[in-house]
Amino acid sequence: ETIISGTTEPDDRKRDAALRPKLLREVIGQKKVAQRLGIAVNASRKTKEPLGHILFDGPPGLGKTTFATVLPNELGTSIQMTSGPALSKQADLLPYLTNLEEGSILFIDEIHRMPRVVEEFIYPAMEDFRIDLVLGDGVNARTISMNLKRFTLIGATTRSGMLSSPMRDRFKMQEHLDFYTINELAEIVRVNARKLDTKISEEAALELARRSRGTPRIANSRLSWVRNFAISEADGSISMEIARRALDMAEVDSEGLDKQDRRYLETLIDVFGGGPTGVEAMAATMNIPSDTLSDEVEPFLLREQYIVRTPRGRLATQKGFLVVGRKQSTDGSS
Ligand code: ADP
Repeated sequence: ETIISGTTEPDDRKRDAALRPKLLREVIGQKKVAQRLGIAVNASRKTKEPLGHILFDGPPGLGKTTFATVLPNELGTSIQMTSGPALSKQADLLPYLTNLEEGSILFIDEIHRMPRVVEEFIYPAMEDFRIDLVLGDGVNARTISMNLKRFTLIGATTRSGMLSSPMRDRFKMQEHLDFYTINELAEIVRVNARKLDTKISEEAALELARRSRGTPRIANSRLSWVRNFAISEADGSISMEIARRALDMAEVDSEGLDKQDRRYLETLIDVFGGGPTGVEAMAATMNIPSDTLSDEVEPFLLREQYIVRTPRGRLATQKGFLVVGRKQSTDGSS
């Protein structure tokens, strides 16, 4: 069971790869980001200069990897993919740097989790396409400089606030991805249903979109469940009735919240009287890392105004109380 619905399980990963748009014009929503990237791509094609380094930030499942994988297709170049946690020491980065081709892309997911030593190692690579290697140690230690092919670093992070500012400043473009509208998600559902050779009614596509927490990855996983349900229980095409039955059976609620969202709101309300409460106290009570709460759970609750952020911590709104069936006391006592 996926608890945090934005995170990537192995099945998700396969589905993500199969359903990922290949070109910028196939990307749905995030119009301004796509337009700016389009300009950068055109300029790079015309000048034959590599694309400047790009940082994508935003909650999981909103398309950071999608944008990163679309760019090499647009540029006719190759991409190597790794992640911050996989790069625990400088030597881990070396094979990627030496495999670079002129103008190719190196994608580092969760770049905020790259240790400081690796971060510092990568600065000259980003700035001057050069790395400084220290050979030997003690009195015999010497530094040699190695030139690299000119490349583009694309970083993805769920929390740009955790990147050091020298790192952040080295990205020429910084693009924030936000949650998708219902109509954009419905479009993603329709396009992907077509890719999966599945008929879906207009209202069923909207219903899936409403119940996908503003997140394409979740829309894809809902679609895949509803499609299986339609194949097993009906003729394989997805009507409104089939979509509703399937989503109810999966305990996907009609507001699009997942179990974690509800637990968050219930804890904030039942344990802390609706707040204000610091994220650390919430994390300790729910027994979930506070990073997970602030990167994966809270952004959607904030955007939908189930909670607000105050100087003294998180506060449940009336909408937040109502969605978990609690009554807000008006005089502050409960
Ligand atoms: P992230 O890297 O931000 O966690 P991904 O790029 O892996 O998210 O997106 C997850 C899945 O959602 C992708 O495989 C793709 O199918 C779908 N997706 C994400 N963004 C879009 C988009 N703008 N248009 C169409 N599909 C998208």
